Amino acid sequence: MINVWLFMGPPGCGKGTQANLVKSKFKDTVHLSTGDLLRAEIKSNSDFGLRVKSYVEQGKLVPDDLILDIFSRAVSSYNNISSVILDGFPRTLPQAKSLAAQCLDSSLNLSGALWFNISSDVIVKRASTRRVCINCGEIYNIITKRPSVDGVCDKCSGSVVHRKDDMESIILDRLTTYAHDTEPLRNFYSSANQLFDIDAEKDSVFVHDQILTILKKM
Ligand code: AMP
Repeated sequence: MINVWLFMGPPGCGKGTQANLVKSKFKDTVHLSTGDLLRAEIKSNSDFGLRVKSYVEQGKLVPDDLILDIFSRAVSSYNNISSVILDGFPRTLPQAKSLAAQCLDSSLNLSGALWFNISSDVIVKRASTRRVCINCGEIYNIITKRPSVDGVCDKCSGSVVHRKDDMESIILDRLTTYAHDTEPLRNFYSSANQLFDIDAEKDSVFVHDQILTILKKM
């Protein structure tokens, strides 16, 4: 059985950073970010990348059929893992239903959805200071976590940039999309008794401790 942990919440709530931290604490655990998979496809100029590029750059949701395709391909490529953290998937009700169906049909076991709660004001502020390595995806912040050399990733020496979809006008659109398409999934997981709330406005150490407490009980 592969335990599936969903890290859910609005864009910029810190779930990607926390997923990276948590992954290293649990044996045979992988972090699957649909956003990272899409950006890798775009970077490689694949046919798939060309089909999804404009959605990602404008902060719009990629159509469900394309997301389900890239998600299924990624999941089936893993061998000998015990847990997978899903970061940024599902984001719509059809995606959530498809994941539930895949869990019934396969060795995936949905352990729970951890919901990162944070206000829009804090997100807009965070997105304006967030920077990302375009090569390895490492996340920085120009106030709290600068790379040692400006614009250069400490881990891989890739370029550290302000993502187009973190610009204020786009982040506001992404928050509207989140409220419309993704927030309703709270009810979906709450009615299945699979919802666990996280206070994501606290500092990252405290957020991390909340997550570990929940995961250890699962
Ligand atoms: P993220 O890195 O999770 O913030 O995702 C970046 C962008 O990728 C989003 O704004 C969407 O354009 C696209 N994306 C990622 N995951 C999904 C998903 N599950 N459904 C639709 N679009 C997605």
